[in-house]
Parts: sequence; structure tokens; C-alpha cells
Amino acid sequence: MNPTNIASSKVAIVTGASRGIGAAVARRLAQDGFAVALNYATGSAHADALVAELKAAGASAIAVQADVSKAGDVRRMFELTERELGKVDVLVNNAGVLKTVPLADTSDALYDQTFDINVRGTFNTLREAAARLNDGGRIVNFSSTTLALNMPGYAVYNATKAAVEAFTHVFAKELRGRGITVNAVAPGPIATSLFLDGKTEEQIRAFASMPPLQRLGQPEDIASVVSFLAGPGAGWVNGQILRANGGVA
Ligand code: NAP
Repeated sequence: MNPTNIASSKVAIVTGASRGIGAAVARRLAQDGFAVALNYATGSAHADALVAELKAAGASAIAVQADVSKAGDVRRMFELTERELGKVDVLVNNAGVLKTVPLADTSDALYDQTFDINVRGTFNTLREAAARLNDGGRIVNFSSTTLALNMPGYAVYNATKAAVEAFTHVFAKELRGRGITVNAVAPGPIATSLFLDGKTEEQIRAFASMPPLQRLGQPEDIASVVSFLAGPGAGWVNGQILRANGGVA
């Protein structure tokens, strides 16, 4: 890696950065010159390895354990980041979970877990960011293209992402006067464990053939979109949902 220092001395928090899309986003923002706090819930080994990789390449990075569904953890994540790297400029709300189950078969526990992480987790970090983010900062939330596809099995997950999109539109307006943009990226199918786990080869092939670009997305496809939204070129994009999905919907 050769950090380009576009953002030298700027600080980014990426939630759920131990693997999948979040790890690719952390790598990309480090390349862009951000000092990056990589949040994880349980995957300390993955997060620590990625921090070591980024530091070896000349970037500033720390790993921060926090369950985003817990307000106290999120406060601690911001405090630690401020102490170690400085005040936060960019918040990427990537942490999320998906289990596809028909609504009628969804347990109370799965409903609670999905809403706690995807919705309350985003709410917790946004509320904390309102008080702590530097003026001129950037917030990138994570929705999903599944919201536009209405496939069976996605009712609860899509409901959580609809809430994230609602937060995005309203919070962008509530931060009037601070120069902070709030946007969301809505990926289509991306080859991570969230998407791949539990699917047959045939199901994966069917998803890969859906977009006119005829492949699954890769985490780096989304990382470059987040890089754009977090960077100087997107300063006039605010309150928007960017569907990055190869044209599937
Ligand atoms: P993934 O590979 O399963 O990774 C999920 C990440 O979230 C992991 O780093 C995990 O950390 C973290 N995480 C889970 N629960 C957490 C919690 N309570 N607190 C903090 N971190 C937590 O998922 P992904 O595919 O990269 O998905 C990232 C985001 O993109 C999600 O918001 C997802 O809804 C969205 N998305 C994904 C796709 C897709 O096809 N993959 C499509 C559309 C949208 P630990 O391992 O440490 O627990």
C-alpha cells in the first residue's frame, strides 16, 4: 500500500471492519490517507491482523472491540478512537447481519438481533457522531439492494435497511450547518460470508447472473464507492442512497 495522503491526518471509524466489506473499506480508506479505527464485535484475530497489515504499509490504524448494538460500547469506541487517533471525520456504519428466513418462521430472538445490530447499531453510532464528528465530516451508512428486490426471506432484514435509509435522509437534514454529509450505499450481492453462507452453488450462480454485468460484486467494488462518498469529490452528495449493484435494480 502507498497511502496517497489525500486525507492525511483525517480519522475514520469503520464498523464491522474485521472482514468482508468493512475490511475492504478500512484498507481503502487507509490507502486514501485516513487514520482508521477498525471496529469488530468478536473477530479480534482478523481485526488485529488487518491493523498489522495497514501499519506495515505506513498507515495509522487501531482495532476497537465494540458491539454496535450497545450504546456504552459505541461511546467507548469513539473515546478510544479520539484518544489514539484524534477527533473523527468519517463514520462508516458497515456492521450488519443477515439471516434469510420467511417472516412467518422468524423467531423473536432473530428479529431482535437483526434490529439490534442493523438499526440500533446505526442509531447508536449516529447519535454519538452528532456530538463528536468534526464539522465537514462524512457519514456513510449501509443499506442493501435487497430492499428494491422484495425477495422472499428478506422481510426483517429489508425492514432494518428501510430504517437505515430513513435515518440517512432525516439525519442529513438534522446536521444542517455542520458541513457533514450523510449518505448510504446499498450494495447488491457481494461475495462475503454474509451473502455466501448457507447458499448452494446453484443459488450463488443465480445471484451472480442477475446483474447485467453478470458477476457477483466484490468487497472492493463497495470500498471504492465508500472512498468516493468519504472523499472530497462527494462534497455535494448529501442525503442520498447510492445503489452499487452492477445494475441489478
Ligand atoms: P460480513 O462479511 O458478515 O461481515 C460483517 C461484519 O460486521 C464483521 O466484521 C462483524 O464483526 C461485524 N459485526 C457483526 N455484528 C456486529 C456488532 N454487533 N458490532 C460490531 N460489528 C459487528 O458482512 P458483509 O457482507 O461485509 O456486510 C457488511 C454490510 O454490507 C452489512 O451492513 C450488510 O447488511 C451490507 N450488505 C451486504 C451485502 C452482501 O451481499 N454481502 C449486500 C448488501 C448489503 P465480527 O466478525 O467481529 O463479529
